[in-house]
Amino acid sequence: MRSTLPDFEHIPARIRRLGELAYNVWWCWNAEARHLFRSLDRATWRQTEQNPVRILREISGELFEAASRDPEFLGLYDRVTARFDRYMNASDTWHSQSRPNKPEELIAYFCAEFALHTSVPIYSGGLGLLAGDTCKEASDLGLPFVAVGALYPEGYFRQQMNPDGSQEATYVRIKPELTPLLPVLNDDGTPLIVTIPMDSREINVAVWRLQAGRVPIYLMDTNIPENDPWDRDLVARLYGGDIQVRLRQEIILGIGGIQVLRALGYDPTVVHLNEGHAAFAAVELIREGRDQGLSLEDSVQAARDRIVFTTHTPVAAGHDEFPFHMIEEHFRSFWDGMGITREQFLELGTAPGGNSFGMTILALNAARKVNGVSRKHGEVSRAMWHFLYPDRTVEEVPILSITNGVHVPTWLSGNMVKLCRKYLGADWKKFHDDPALWEKVLEIPDEELWAAHCASKGKLLSFMQGRARARWASRNFAPSQVIAHGALLNPKALTIGFARRFATYKRANLIMRDVERLKRILMNQWHPVQLVFAGKAHPADEPGKFLLKQIYEACSAPEFAGRIAFVENYNKQVAHHLVLGVDVWLNNPVPPKEASGTSGEKASLNGVVNFSVLDGWWCEGYNRQNGWAIQGADDSSTAESIYSTLENEIVPLYYDRDSGGIPRQWVALMKEAIRSTAAPFSARRMMKEYAEKLYFPDR
Ligand SMILES: *Cc1c(COP(=O)(O)O)cnc(C)c1O
Repeated sequence: MRSTLPDFEHIPARIRRLGELAYNVWWCWNAEARHLFRSLDRATWRQTEQNPVRILREISGELFEAASRDPEFLGLYDRVTARFDRYMNASDTWHSQSRPNKPEELIAYFCAEFALHTSVPIYSGGLGLLAGDTCKEASDLGLPFVAVGALYPEGYFRQQMNPDGSQEATYVRIKPELTPLLPVLNDDGTPLIVTIPMDSREINVAVWRLQAGRVPIYLMDTNIPENDPWDRDLVARLYGGDIQVRLRQEIILGIGGIQVLRALGYDPTVVHLNEGHAAFAAVELIREGRDQGLSLEDSVQAARDRIVFTTHTPVAAGHDEFPFHMIEEHFRSFWDGMGITREQFLELGTAPGGNSFGMTILALNAARKVNGVSRKHGEVSRAMWHFLYPDRTVEEVPILSITNGVHVPTWLSGNMVKLCRKYLGADWKKFHDDPALWEKVLEIPDEELWAAHCASKGKLLSFMQGRARARWASRNFAPSQVIAHGALLNPKALTIGFARRFATYKRANLIMRDVERLKRILMNQWHPVQLVFAGKAHPADEPGKFLLKQIYEACSAPEFAGRIAFVENYNKQVAHHLVLGVDVWLNNPVPPKEASGTSGEKASLNGVVNFSVLDGWWCEGYNRQNGWAIQGADDSSTAESIYSTLENEIVPLYYDRDSGGIPRQWVALMKEAIRSTAAPFSARRMMKEYAEKLYFPDR
């Protein structure tokens, strides 16, 4: 099996390895590599939303020729390729040092979403971002790791806002040739096709490879001529279908995923189900055991020896369940083939006395280790699933917790990276999950940290205003929308960011509860405050769309004078600008519905101060000196806490300046945020914990 890079013959030989670099998203988390592609042609870099594959296809031969003769470019090119080679071939990784002599180990990571690059929009939110950060960190640590997911050819939707606050959702077909995806081929050059049995017929999937450093991510695609027309779009869209489509997508992910790994020659020793969507992988592993002649009991045990499971959903209704008749329709031939009865099969995913088949129950039954994604979410999950373990106390329910973290090289701003290099040491990156390293943040001069932050804020505003300008120039945009999108924002004003999916439990409109009070806060002549929102509502989520409309109306309402703004099409790139560029990160979900929340971790890492209810990661992260905890038991008291904290603490502190204009106390707060959260909420700490508690706990 192989994937072949295009030949790049149009690129001068001296710099032809640009092609290789473009097809490994390693460049995304390496500043010099990003700079290399940017410096080829800034305009194309921007127009293509930072897409090196397109840059290599679209820029002119003269530009390549010029670059191949420019000593500065060549110096950069040589440094980047040398670093890439060192990275890809390193033999002294954390994993190889901590677990020598275990060459047979392999972790296969299953997830329904992955967020690696804007050109491959196969994620809707936190789950996909986590999966992307997980793959990058697994690569950095040298873990033996492959990932499996689905390519949704139409991905997740792009959002544009209408003047009335309704959301326009468009699905853009991914053109793989304009992305870092490579087809996986058989040795004879024909596409690898894996055939998955599904209710008395078969579905064929082709496989794409997305390479993240040392970690390959294999994405299954049903949109191929070998399938019947009605099956071709089975995985066309992420979360785009009814329950029937959902079941079929999950069969493809779980069962197809294992079969694809087999076809590729992998024999994973650990199968990590990241959320319940992929739990049918357990069924396939059990079937394999039966095929090899094991008893059902032994097959289940053999599967359990490999499977580990991470649950993400703290709300009972959020876990996928399917009625028995649907399972029957899709798995009848399957359990016959396994030589087990309908009842034995259904038992794998059904609670005692239950009347539907639950993906989380299947995963809980099939896994040898299970975790939630923050300390609090672990507690909530143990209580939620206690009924499955009647002979145990709640504390004994076997669900651990491993708190989510974020990939530091991805989420730390370029300006902050420079400060880290200067004050934390040249090799700070190597030790970035060591809390002691971050003590040195206290040594950064206030002026420098403040200047770095103001530069990031300036970038956010010019990003927003550049977009508003482009939309206005497209002639398809009302003047009020130019304002709604941030034309009147002031770089000097205290800026609060709120960006996440518009699910109702996240309560985007809570801060609007008392409009007059909010207006007084925002309009203060000497101490103005502004709000920046971003987020998509799922097209089928009417209450979510209503929330979005409310927010958007406020953005264009003259009474708020342009102090509330909206950024369209929240995705990884927008998130990047926002979590670095605002002053305060607001988060007010209904507890305990935020399992972890990672956007606040990204913000805090950059000295953007969290202002959040005590839920998810913030229960662990908050130390009274690194941000604010919003109190309150219901909407009304929570809103009151938001207003009074803003009025009495946040606004006064932000505007308390010394004679040089530096907010000393605020900068102290920023430093404390970075010092206390950067290491513990890094993906590095998280992945080491996964290795130690889940993947290799007793070996
Ligand atoms: C980090 C991130 C998320 C997850 O953040 P939450 O705090 O869970 O809302 C969602 N979407 C994008 C684009 C992100 O970057």
